[in-house]
Amino acid sequence: MAVATFNRVTPKIVERLCNAVGGDCVLVDDDSLTLHASDETEDLVFRPDVVVVPKTAEAIADIMRIATEYRIPVTPRGAGTGLSGGALPVHGGIVLSTKGLNRILEIDRENLFAVVEPGVITQVFQEAVEAVGLFYPVDPASRGSCFLGGNLAECAGGPRAVKYGVTKDFVTGIEAVLPDGSLVRHGGKLLKNVTGYNLTQLIVGSEGTLAIITKIYLRLIPLPKHRILLLVPFNSLEEPARAVPAIMHAGVVPSVLEFMERDAVEITERHLGKSFPHADAVAHLMIELDGNDEGVIQREAERVAEIVLEHGAADVLVADTDAKMGELWAMRRAFGAAVKSESIYKEEDTVVPRNQLVALLIGVKEIASRYGLRTVCYGHAGDGNLHVNILKMDMPEERWKTALDPAIREIFALTVKLGGLISGEHGIGYVQKNYMPIASTEQELSLMRAIKHAFDPLGILNPGKLFPTTEDQKL
Ligand SMILES: Cc1cc2nc3c(=O)[nH]c(=O)nc-3n(C[C@H](O)[C@H](O)[C@H](O)COP(=O)(O)OP(=O)(O)OC[C@H]3O[C@@H](n4cnc5c(N)ncnc54)[C@H](O)[C@@H]3O)c2cc1C
Repeated sequence: MAVATFNRVTPKIVERLCNAVGGDCVLVDDDSLTLHASDETEDLVFRPDVVVVPKTAEAIADIMRIATEYRIPVTPRGAGTGLSGGALPVHGGIVLSTKGLNRILEIDRENLFAVVEPGVITQVFQEAVEAVGLFYPVDPASRGSCFLGGNLAECAGGPRAVKYGVTKDFVTGIEAVLPDGSLVRHGGKLLKNVTGYNLTQLIVGSEGTLAIITKIYLRLIPLPKHRILLLVPFNSLEEPARAVPAIMHAGVVPSVLEFMERDAVEITERHLGKSFPHADAVAHLMIELDGNDEGVIQREAERVAEIVLEHGAADVLVADTDAKMGELWAMRRAFGAAVKSESIYKEEDTVVPRNQLVALLIGVKEIASRYGLRTVCYGHAGDGNLHVNILKMDMPEERWKTALDPAIREIFALTVKLGGLISGEHGIGYVQKNYMPIASTEQELSLMRAIKHAFDPLGILNPGKLFPTTEDQKL
């Protein structure tokens, strides 16, 4: 693929943007540029030339027409909670914030669908549907701030994927603006659709590189009436990982099956100033069961307790009130922030078939110790999705720089060898793109590049992401 060349945003282009979408939607002040120069990915900073905050799909189309005319790179942005640098404007240009498109357009109780704009905060949406007895189970730990549009672009997962699936499993239709400013629609309030290529699912997970999502159709399900949360401490790393397939094999499908090692718990205790039951255990499983029949859930909880005890659990703690469950969830949702507060770090989002989790964990620890690196692992054990946080701590800068890249390459090579891939839910974005050849062949990458070219022939939409950097490219 030819290397795209871009132009800078001039005062004349700013004026064109102001005329098209209104001066109040175009920001060039220092604070706004700084605010949109980073996301939640490590410590990377790339300043845009201008930030635009449109309020309609038509305004987005106007912006894209101007960007096409002047060959200005455009980086779509949701809430900026991404962990792979997807929203970073690595080539400068325009950051297109979707926070102005923040309406829940419809909750259709008859058909069990919702229609929303991309800037709706995930938790706000969850609460709105729960208020009418419905359920949107996709539950990223960042739900209090991330946007549904960002969730679609990254195909966000979270802890409930083991039973309910990830974002793509709930998206049935989309409206989006293409890089040349044309508006496309696909799907709708439809559970079935084989009308041509599935453009909806092509755009879901495309990390803002193909189109800007402006409207979303989401499938909903009835809200389960009851839930129980179990916290299970273990005295080894292997036992909980082995218990996971055993639980599934017993015919119980928990709504949550999370793994956390001791370091994750201890760091979070320090970060929050709170204590966690059995914090000294080597690892924990957090297991949630939900459904409409309380008796059935109780019996399933008992069965799960038997299985984990057979697999070496030191105890089974039951959280059966909203308050107790809320405390555990607050702790679990704080892991990411806690790791970040502890040290400079790099987070990997490995995913393997769930019965390979033990092999992955053992392998990660062995690779890290060979490179003298500390790792903190936690994640969605039910999905085989392990977040491997590699912490710098007090390692000298030079050693950190030399050790990190080969260690990540070994971890990813192991992941692929175990039948896995290098991102389960955080995406490739900017920080993982040079590892793509570990997971995809050149032929597969060429096919992806051809798809990108069909949507974005000038390469102006979110450039510098997803595809590995070639010899002649800087970014
Ligand atoms: C503490 C913490 C916990 C997290 N927990 C989870 C978790 O449990 N599960 C999980 O999956 N992720 C998790 N994440 C990662 C992150 O929250 C998700 O990737 C989320 O989906 C990003 O949404 P956002 O609105 O912040 O998007 P941004 O970070 O703003 O953008 C992410 C990508 O989406 C693109 N994009 C945004 N909006 C649009 C649009 N309308 N059209 C086209 N492209 C768009 C951007 O260009 C970028 O490539 C966590 C992050 C943090 C900081």
